[in-house]
Amino acid sequence: MNITFLGTGTSHGVPSIDCMRTNYAYCPKDVCRLSLHDKKHRRTRSSILIQNGKDTLLVDISADFRYQMLRESIKSVDSVLLTHSHSDHIGGIPDIRSYTTDKTLTLYGSSETIESVRQSYRYIFDPATCVGGGIPKIALSEIATTIKLCGLDITPISVSHGSLDGALGFRIGDLAYIPDIKSISDSELTKIVGVRMLILNCLRGSPLHSTHLTIAESTALARKIAPEKCYFIHMCHDIHYKYDSVNLEPWMSFSYDGLTIELN
Ligand SMILES: [Zn+2]
Ligand SMILES: [Zn+2]
Repeated sequence: MNITFLGTGTSHGVPSIDCMRTNYAYCPKDVCRLSLHDKKHRRTRSSILIQNGKDTLLVDISADFRYQMLRESIKSVDSVLLTHSHSDHIGGIPDIRSYTTDKTLTLYGSSETIESVRQSYRYIFDPATCVGGGIPKIALSEIATTIKLCGLDITPISVSHGSLDGALGFRIGDLAYIPDIKSISDSELTKIVGVRMLILNCLRGSPLHSTHLTIAESTALARKIAPEKCYFIHMCHDIHYKYDSVNLEPWMSFSYDGLTIELN
């Protein structure tokens, strides 16, 4: 299967509006300004797309979904997984309608995520508010155990992400994808130890954050999971892909938007 990093940034994206508003004067490593000309520093909100044969699996519908799908020329989507209900991960839901003109698309997530999507996008699910066009044809389905989608075994992994209930990572065949995490229980960890590829949250160098992992924490967790290859995502402007790489092992790297990798 081929994995495309649609977005690799944290909720602000890189460059951030905050840094632009102060003419990049306070950007810690000048990454926001550099990102204007350096693609490897430009980070839209986190999401991946998996191509398995003819099937296309999307993980999260980011706030930058429309731009990402146009950038990568993605013609169809067959299934969608949602990690959690923070708006950087579900903010593109209205634009999924372009992929539902000829079918209903099912979005899979935890029961908490599903409930939150239903409330956040009431116009999609409440017939009383459905006036006029522009409604995506989507169904919501809870994922609680391993299911098969797009020819791949998908297992939900419960993670702690601050006070939010129902945050998930996913094991997708030999890949584990965990964009937003602060900690994981030993029992959930056993579901992903030994995967060949890990795509993991790595917010910044320091200071510690209440809902996300920093470089030291991300690399420690990656060593515990011990994949052949680990890519870090959900990065803010505090991560310079070149200078901060000195803190990584040879099998770890910072990802960037548009990177496509193969896992067979
Ligand atoms: Zn996020
Ligand atoms: Zn989040």
